[in-house]
Amino acid sequence: MSGFRALPSVDQLLSGHPDLIDRHGRAMVTRHARLRLDAARAAIRDGADGAFEAARLPHLLAADLAAMAATRLRPMLNLTGTVLHTNLGRAILANEAIAAASAAMAAPLALEYDLETGGRGQRDDHLRGLLCELTGAEDATIVNNNAAAVLIALNSFGQGRDSIVSRGELIEIGGAFRMPDIMARAGTRLVEVGTTNRTHPRDYQDAITDQTGLILKVHTSNYRIEGFTAEVAGPALAAIARAAGVVMLNDLGAGSLVDLSRWGLRREPTVAEAVAEGADLVTFSGDKLLGGPQAGFVVGRRDLIARINKNPMKRALRLDKIRIAALEATLRLYRDPDRLERRLPVLRLLARPQAEIAVQAARLAPLVAARLREYAVTTTDCASQIGSGSLPTDTIPSAGLRITGTGGDAPDRLAAWLRARDRPVIGRIHDGALILDLRCLERDADLLEALA
Ligand SMILES: *Cc1c(COP(=O)(O)O)cnc(C)c1O
Repeated sequence: MSGFRALPSVDQLLSGHPDLIDRHGRAMVTRHARLRLDAARAAIRDGADGAFEAARLPHLLAADLAAMAATRLRPMLNLTGTVLHTNLGRAILANEAIAAASAAMAAPLALEYDLETGGRGQRDDHLRGLLCELTGAEDATIVNNNAAAVLIALNSFGQGRDSIVSRGELIEIGGAFRMPDIMARAGTRLVEVGTTNRTHPRDYQDAITDQTGLILKVHTSNYRIEGFTAEVAGPALAAIARAAGVVMLNDLGAGSLVDLSRWGLRREPTVAEAVAEGADLVTFSGDKLLGGPQAGFVVGRRDLIARINKNPMKRALRLDKIRIAALEATLRLYRDPDRLERRLPVLRLLARPQAEIAVQAARLAPLVAARLREYAVTTTDCASQIGSGSLPTDTIPSAGLRITGTGGDAPDRLAAWLRARDRPVIGRIHDGALILDLRCLERDADLLEALA
């Protein structure tokens, strides 16, 4: 039985492990060596053997340092079947956007500088032209996300006034975005009209007073009212707003820039269509169907956009250079719709045909089974979702792996093990099995390496 004297000093411990100092730096190694030595002394006081404690110190220290160095923001494999998963960071970006963002991080750029005159420029100018070109709008402004776009638009035209919205469109989106709460924070009074399932033109018309600031139309992103329903379509609502001289704001949410039916997905109204319908302002997200970084856009009438840009909130909600560069590169891809599917990951993943994914599943099943020997791996059909509240009731036929094991907790155990990989793998538990939807797995090797 050896005691405290078996333990090395901090200096001895450090000098024995120059590799750890190389990797983690002297300060970190010293701090964790002290903590481990304290713990070893406490264990010896409680009766542990000193030689045993000394022998395991290097291993424990290395593990502590490795745990401290591992980031939780490391790349993962999203095999949940939800392509735009808000909790997993939504859209992954096109190579063009990644390159533009990297360049913007590494060197000065003309963010608010006019290269022609040498005078002051505006950061939104880099995106304004592209947004107008792609949506047909007169003007555009860009903020932190679509929630911010709605907030600043409501505040700019509804503060101290009424904002009229259909009862059927008072949405809550995940993460505490509730339309009534946003309206309250924007300083506008919510005037609900119609009923949950049916709202008519006269409901809006009857609610308009000299206190009305705007009429709001909201895309019911994450739910659908079906059955005996009626809503006032964009053009009719725009006409009502115009006749009353109030602003009509259409919050599209995901807001695609292209007609998705071209790629076999369900048709959603595009931003250009919402603009053409006569909405004064249209808001939409940068990192949903658009496939860029987090951002929110307001496009529409020039005089109204100018007022939004004068709102002091704009400064608080503006974008940084990294995202502006990534957005510009992303928007440019839309100029060539023929190559969009190849270049924009969101679209590429959404458009992958089930047959292709099924072949991939058949190819991977035996290889994955060989790595997960305690489990049974079969192929399965499954249903992917777009996610982020886009087309909520629509699923996209997909394929994947169905993994089962012995014991009721087998799927949870496997899920936990997959989360703990260097490159975590996230699936979905369904019906006593772990399902790995392969829609978002573009390279087989990524999964096989993650499981190695
Ligand atoms: C997603 C969504 C928002 C919020 O957009 P973020 O970009 O997540 O801030 C607002 N309105 C609607 C209708 C949405 O679908």
